[in-house]
Amino acid sequence: VTVPSAGGETDLSKKKRAAALEVALGRAYPEARCSLDYQNPFQLWVATVLSAQCTDSRVNLITPALFRRCPDALSLSTLSQEEVEALIRPTGFFRNKAKSLRQGAALLLTEFSGQVPDTMESLLRIPGVARKTANVLLGNAFGKAEGFVVDTHVLRLALRLGLTARRDPVRIERDLMTLFPRERWTSLSHRLIQHGRQVCKARRPACERCPLTALCPRVGLES
Ligand code: SF4
Repeated sequence: VTVPSAGGETDLSKKKRAAALEVALGRAYPEARCSLDYQNPFQLWVATVLSAQCTDSRVNLITPALFRRCPDALSLSTLSQEEVEALIRPTGFFRNKAKSLRQGAALLLTEFSGQVPDTMESLLRIPGVARKTANVLLGNAFGKAEGFVVDTHVLRLALRLGLTARRDPVRIERDLMTLFPRERWTSLSHRLIQHGRQVCKARRPACERCPLTALCPRVGLES
């Protein structure tokens, strides 16, 4: 990923460009939403853990059977490491994921009455949960936006679109939070992720069919 030059852009013009990007992304991806299947915060936590290094569609294939067997933290905590591994194996990195799920379920039971908590501070205490996962949970399962979901797509797009010059996800998230209104953080995260998956791909961004060209330092702002 190369950091584009937006030609010495001022904070004010960057804010205006961010507002225009928000409108363009809203038009291009009006239906963008979390692509993991879930019915409650517990299921979304489990699905998000499984989605590391795995596609959401593959996670969605295995979670129905997993959630039938483990509908809550208590039932998950009673399974052995080997039993959890067998249930989640197709998602890859299954040993570490099984460990995180079992440790997380145990913590939910001892500290949070078996429920997934709804604050950033409490979520970050769950093994394997960093700000990205916590933001997925807060924004989608609880409707409480505390920040942006800075996954690989949002990280790449924030750089390409000249919305940050940082490389660290936490600092990128902070830059994005200053540019966009809080009530849009969750929907914008989904729209940026969809744009990254469908158009502004890592290896070969499809600039020729991108709805953001006029607002992108890589193309529009340089021409
Ligand atoms: S113009 Fe190209 S680099 Fe810029 S957002 Fe679109 S696809 Fe990505």
